[in-house]
Amino acid sequence: MARAFIRLQRVLDLEAQQGYQNKAVVGGIRQFATFWVGQAQEEAIDEQDRAFIEQVAEVLSDYGRLPGPEARKKALDNLNVRLKQREERVAALAPAAPVKPAPPPRRDTAVAKTAPPPPKPQPKPQAKTAPVKVKEKPKPAKIVPAEPDPEGLRQPVTILQGVGPKVGELLAKLGAKTIGELLYIFPRRYDDYTLMKPISKLEYGEQVTIIGTIWETRARRTRTNQIIVESVISDGTGSVKASWFNQRWLVGQLKAGMQIVISGKVEQFLGRPVFNNPEWEPLEIEPLRTRRIVPVYPLTKGLSSNKMREIMRTAVTQWAPRVPDPLPTALRQRLKLDNLTEALVQTHFPDRQQTLHNGRRRLTFDELFLLQLGMQASRRDWQSQPGISIPTDESALVLFRKQLPFEFTGAQQRVVKEIANDMADGAPMNRLLQGDVGSGKTVVAAAALLLAAKAGYQTAMMAPTEILAEQHGQGLDKLLTPLGLRLALLTGSVPAAEKERIYAALTAGEIDVLIGTHALIQEGVTFKNLALAVIDEQHRFGVDQRQALRDKGTPPGEEKRNPHLLTMSATPIPRSLALSLYGDLDLSILDEMPPGRQEIKTRWLATRERERAYAFVRGQIKKGRQAYIIYPLVEESDKIEAKAAVADYERLQKEVFPDLRVGLIHGRLKSVEKEAVMRAFYQGEIDILVSTSVIEVGVDVPNASVMLIEGANRFGLAQLHQFRGRVGRGAHQSYCLLISDAATDDAIERLSALEKTNDGFVLAEKDLEIRGPGEFFGRRQSGLPELQMASLLDMELLELAQKEARALYQADPDLTQPEHQQLRECVQQFWEHAADVS
Ligand code: ADP
Ligand code: MG
Repeated sequence: MARAFIRLQRVLDLEAQQGYQNKAVVGGIRQFATFWVGQAQEEAIDEQDRAFIEQVAEVLSDYGRLPGPEARKKALDNLNVRLKQREERVAALAPAAPVKPAPPPRRDTAVAKTAPPPPKPQPKPQAKTAPVKVKEKPKPAKIVPAEPDPEGLRQPVTILQGVGPKVGELLAKLGAKTIGELLYIFPRRYDDYTLMKPISKLEYGEQVTIIGTIWETRARRTRTNQIIVESVISDGTGSVKASWFNQRWLVGQLKAGMQIVISGKVEQFLGRPVFNNPEWEPLEIEPLRTRRIVPVYPLTKGLSSNKMREIMRTAVTQWAPRVPDPLPTALRQRLKLDNLTEALVQTHFPDRQQTLHNGRRRLTFDELFLLQLGMQASRRDWQSQPGISIPTDESALVLFRKQLPFEFTGAQQRVVKEIANDMADGAPMNRLLQGDVGSGKTVVAAAALLLAAKAGYQTAMMAPTEILAEQHGQGLDKLLTPLGLRLALLTGSVPAAEKERIYAALTAGEIDVLIGTHALIQEGVTFKNLALAVIDEQHRFGVDQRQALRDKGTPPGEEKRNPHLLTMSATPIPRSLALSLYGDLDLSILDEMPPGRQEIKTRWLATRERERAYAFVRGQIKKGRQAYIIYPLVEESDKIEAKAAVADYERLQKEVFPDLRVGLIHGRLKSVEKEAVMRAFYQGEIDILVSTSVIEVGVDVPNASVMLIEGANRFGLAQLHQFRGRVGRGAHQSYCLLISDAATDDAIERLSALEKTNDGFVLAEKDLEIRGPGEFFGRRQSGLPELQMASLLDMELLELAQKEARALYQADPDLTQPEHQQLRECVQQFWEHAADVS
């Protein structure tokens, strides 16, 4: 039988059941008529039928205007009689045709074969806006702390019900081998389905939950051969269609008559609200993915969200109560923080937005607190080792400054003094020097190296790449050799014989300044008396690499001592944030640029202006300059990114700049290959260097004058500023071209900020303002333990954690008091993990 008529019959029946309120269909019967008529005409069997359909449509269209239930009942009764007549006529017309047998009274033929008896009549809604009568959702028992079981938490995830060896491997991919680790795999986000509505009140675009009864479910095939399973769900105020794609098995689950909860976003189809691929659950089970705040977990191939949620619920229910809480109760209560069990429960399966917030706040506090405690401890460890006192040789400094082709800036002068004072003091220095690209960190480092060497000690400077090390070698050679210092360069590509010679000279104390790459921390390298180690671009080195350089301060067989350590970073961080994050490191900031620095002219261009940008690049190269072209694709995988860069490189070389020398660098190249390309660019053998975001920080090619950045809206402010810092390093006026059709407000703000200023600290403040401390910090974690919750970080919490950590540390530095035992273990674990990841 024609589907349109079956559907019509259902609507009429439902409408009758509901007391002729014109609510059987969302939007009213009239609304239904407009889409029904087209479908019915397609199924009409002859002219007479067509005419009949038009008449029915008219009756339906006027239905809502009828004065009251009585008049409406009359109209529908009349219509029912005529529908029956039609059916008889159709049956008589084609008795032998393969038409389905005459329908039973309720005309549920289409589903009759598979569906159970149709649903019981629904209770009539009392008032016009009567809400659906919602059954209380089954409430789980509240989960409260129980006897801690640290041993139990170290068991493998496979002891959980529903987690076999296969799922266990998938969870391991997510970073959870043990139950304890599993509890710390947090949702990426949440879908809030706590808003419940009667179907008649659904609004397009809202994220909502409905509860109703399934009227029918059927599967159909689309023209592109997809299976769509559709259910019509009614709740007594109206009905709505929900569709699922390519999940044929749902036909067997979504049986007519079943009470169901649907959560999802209301979409629109032919003027009617629908749900596409909503979450669903039978009404009687405890909600996990509908009508609550639903956690959305990170997944891996082979692990579905539903499976993951089930696993997490089991884990949280059984094990969150057994997690020992490291925070002393008094502290926790004073700061009004959740207990750890509650925080874990609410972070995984929140009751409300507020409890979710509280739970996450507690977990964020934990991370920051452990971070700060660890910093306190490492500062003390650092300073408890004897250092070397280096008196400040003022006359050497005067000589040094005399031979410079320029004057120190005020900031350089101040920072050199800070460093000199640190080194004169007996305790080992641990100082971070922050200064924007081009602020002149190298001469500051050179002054420090000079002071230590003049006092009769050895020094070292480590850079992350060979090119950088070579550049430092050349620069320092000019500055320090004339003052009588003996320099040597040690990188991976130094020939073995030369290496041996350097090793020997170093041990004999015949080298004052050793400059190099990771080669400096290799085994054969032994200093006679290393007193100062400088690390450039410190974020490029891991914790243990930095530690390895420090360890070179102790000659073999002697008592352990620490060299002074100066780390340098070109990534400006706003002072407020830096003080909290590195509060236990001494911080020097070069916040003043050398005079006469040319401003890099920065222009933001739309993509349609790209040709102009190319013409500009060409013009600069004609003048003898060089250019960088950067491609984004920052979110894609390395592989895809490399592929796209290769394609663009080929296009640029063949079609745009066939007469120029174009080079390519991307993340899939080996580091020797990268270095080779960079070197060719440095030596002027390449005019245009096409690069993904891997471009080396700190590389100095003074002849390069244009930085063209494609898809500039896709990079962060700090990164854009770093790219821009690759040009403007010589005497030539330099330019930065940002190509982007900016989409978001944030992108517009970022790009405009870059056009306005060249000052990295101003931009860092702006970045902090746009993104908030969490996001801002989230991308700059290098060298610190991984912070899972850092995206929630706020200034207030950061300061609170720091204050509390200081206070606790003062009172019990070794965390030996009984109530701090748990805490001590956590600090250790947290920082051990940090050493693993960095
Ligand atoms: P960065 O902080 O990025 O490492 P560098 O130390 O490489 O910066 O310095 C960038 C350039 O500025 C170098 O060519 C250096 O000689 C020059 N420079 C450094 N200090 C001054 C100064 N006070 N006046 C003028 N030029 C300076
Ligand atoms: Mg530098």
